[in-house]
Amino acid sequence: MTGQERSEEKSECVSLSPMMEAVPAPPESERVCVFGTGDLGRSLGLRLLQAGYGVVFGSRRPHSRSSLLPHGAQVLGHAAAAQSAHLIFIAVQREHYDFLVPLANQLKGKVLVDLSNNLRKNQYPEANAEYLQSLVPGAEVVKGFNTLSAWSLQNGPSDANRQVYICGESVEAKQAVIAVATKLGFSALDQGFLSVARELEDFPLQLFPQWRLPLRISIGLSAAFFFYLLIRYVIYAYVTQGEDISFRIMVSLANQVCPIVSLIMLSLCYLPGVLASFLQLYRGTKYRRFPNWLDRWMLCRKQLGLLSLGFAFLHVLYTLIIPIRYSVMFWVTEHTVSVIRENRTTMFDTTTAWHDDSYLSLGILGFGLYVLLGITSLPSVINALSWREFSFVQSKLGHLTLLFCTAHTYLYGWNRFLSSSTYKWYTPPGYMLCLVLPSVVLLLKLLLITPCVDRTITRIRQGWERGADQRNPKDSQPLIP
Ligand code: NAP
Repeated sequence: MTGQERSEEKSECVSLSPMMEAVPAPPESERVCVFGTGDLGRSLGLRLLQAGYGVVFGSRRPHSRSSLLPHGAQVLGHAAAAQSAHLIFIAVQREHYDFLVPLANQLKGKVLVDLSNNLRKNQYPEANAEYLQSLVPGAEVVKGFNTLSAWSLQNGPSDANRQVYICGESVEAKQAVIAVATKLGFSALDQGFLSVARELEDFPLQLFPQWRLPLRISIGLSAAFFFYLLIRYVIYAYVTQGEDISFRIMVSLANQVCPIVSLIMLSLCYLPGVLASFLQLYRGTKYRRFPNWLDRWMLCRKQLGLLSLGFAFLHVLYTLIIPIRYSVMFWVTEHTVSVIRENRTTMFDTTTAWHDDSYLSLGILGFGLYVLLGITSLPSVINALSWREFSFVQSKLGHLTLLFCTAHTYLYGWNRFLSSSTYKWYTPPGYMLCLVLPSVVLLLKLLLITPCVDRTITRIRQGWERGADQRNPKDSQPLIP
């Protein structure tokens, strides 16, 4: 450090805690520098201080920033701050990176951690980290920490987000960053060279990527069944009997759409697993890739299941409010009064009572298991389960849930399946349509658990291959090309 730089550091240095001045500065290896005193810079600085690091902020205006920064940190001009630590976090927007060019000498040999993100994908021709490396070729740039937010950093180690991804050319530089990340309570995952930086920068821009397909399916199914039921009930009643029952749209129709969509989505959650088993049986091996569509489908099973649970929950809520609806209360009162007025006697029908209770009981059991499936898909619960316990709940109890819910729907239909009045305008009611898929899934699953099929599929999953002895090993397609 030149004498001029030392005097510059002295004049620019602002210690944020008068008490800290008496404490000797930590060695360079225990000191880190943060360029930028914005939201992320401040949160990161606080977390670094809490982990025991000495923190030196580099700022354009060190004097005016001092009151904003966490206690115990120093704030200097960029040049002086760069001299104080080997590792420098760049918490500045990419468009301002050119301020680093005149600092090339001070930054030579330093590790620069690029924290930046963009507003949209492909905003710039090259990744921000690669751009930073081109501006300061003498430094070792590591991309990392950009998937954390200032908010989650401020929340401290109790925040659930514990992973940071890093990439860079220099192994030593990455190790230095991993050491800091570990001390901050994160687990750092090395993603490779700096060419991966663009992928890491795109990561925070993703908007529920695994939810997109399940959401589209649920919206599509809801819309299709809503219009189908609207025509079959409301429009049919208006056209054939001149009756206006449009008020039923809000609760009755919604309460038909929700269970229909829920049951179909639950079937869609279990169908890919069944298809994958049949594909493995057909191929006689598990060492071949599934087609992309099946892979994609399998990857979103959790989201399909959770959305399905959401629709089931709505169905339960809609069902619970039935007794307090005006139209229901009106018809019940009307019926009671007419029975009294006409002095009619109604007989208790045991068969109907059995049917009603069984139908409701299966619905309750199905929903109870549904909730259990939902709970066991939470990461914290998954972590507490062994693989066998998880697979027991998600597969065995999952299929049982599908069985209960399907049986609940069959009992709902009961003797109406064979009644011609059910088929308004020659169309089947929604609940009949929604039974097709779960019935197919359950039948296929039944086939899979028959002893002879189950034995073969278990052997395949344990690595057995049909005709493996005769086949030339070169013929088998590897999992990873
Ligand atoms: P910010 O609040 O706007 O702060 C950026 C800081 O950069 C300013 O406080 C300023 O510090 C410095 N700066 C501004 N203009 C400058 C210039 N022309 N030359 C040199 N320094 C300049 O931004 P931020 O939210 O902290 O984000 C910083 C970086 O982290 C961004 O690249 C962002 O994409 C990334 N990031 C942010 C978050 C987040 O949650 N905020 C999460 C992940 C990644 P001085 O005035 O002290 O110089």
